[in-house]
Amino acid sequence: SHILEATGLKKYYGSEPNVTKALNGVDLSIEQGEFVSIIGTSGSGKSTLLHMLGGLDVPTSGSVVIRGKEIAKMNDEQLSVFRRRNIGFIFQNYNLVPILNVYQNIVLPIELDGGKIDQEYIDNIVRLLHLEEKLSNLPNNLSGGQQQRVAIARALASKPAIILADEPTGNLDSKTSLEVMQLLKLTMAEFNQTLVMITHNPEIAQVADRMIRIEDGKIINTDRER
Ligand code: ADP
Ligand code: ADP
Repeated sequence: SHILEATGLKKYYGSEPNVTKALNGVDLSIEQGEFVSIIGTSGSGKSTLLHMLGGLDVPTSGSVVIRGKEIAKMNDEQLSVFRRRNIGFIFQNYNLVPILNVYQNIVLPIELDGGKIDQEYIDNIVRLLHLEEKLSNLPNNLSGGQQQRVAIARALASKPAIILADEPTGNLDSKTSLEVMQLLKLTMAEFNQTLVMITHNPEIAQVADRMIRIEDGKIINTDRER
């Protein structure tokens, strides 16, 4: 069974006569543990798709089903709880809290949610992402690559089944980007998590199990490599 399923997904912005068809009928099924990259030119609908998949915005028509639940059927409160429990987001700007050290940043979402910190799991993530030596540093004392890894650790910390990432290595040089992606892939595989990632970079997209190309709001090819 699929952990994430989009069917006939459409998203139109604006109203007649100025309608932008950002998504124009997307069908997509993603298995648990799968790593999918989404590529396509600017304006092709990648971010819109990721927002729909994460329940950050409502589709014009079609459905998104996550772990058997149709997210359009939830009210705002149910949706935000569901999102916190199931989905981690990684965006291009790291959004680290400057006055908290690395460890505090990583566990912040768990603490805000009143959750229990699984220390062994956090230690594992920290080790995989090579952040052991940096836990007491403030974000400003880290390189871009290190800050990016902290943002990844934070997204993983609450053990979301699904991670949605929008250009997660967008601010890094290509060598560091590849390293971060390999680490992320390793971490996700270790915990059988699902990753859907937007990228402009074909080299980064290749790290995924499957690459989806989107053009004018439609998936134009999907290429399975395993
Ligand atoms: P990508 O992420 O591939 O660059 P987007 O999903 O951001 O593409 O955008 C797809 C299309 O929808 C573009 O034409 C964009 O201008 C338009 N669009 C995106 N967000 C909005 C919005 N909030 N309001 C109006 N148009 C939007
Ligand atoms: P990463 O591997 O996470 O990208 P590195 O430690 O390799 O981080 O940093 C990349 C480059 O940036 C190195 O030349 C390093 O000396 C430099 N660097 C690291 N931290 C900082 C910082 N806080 N400010 C400026 N430059 C830094």
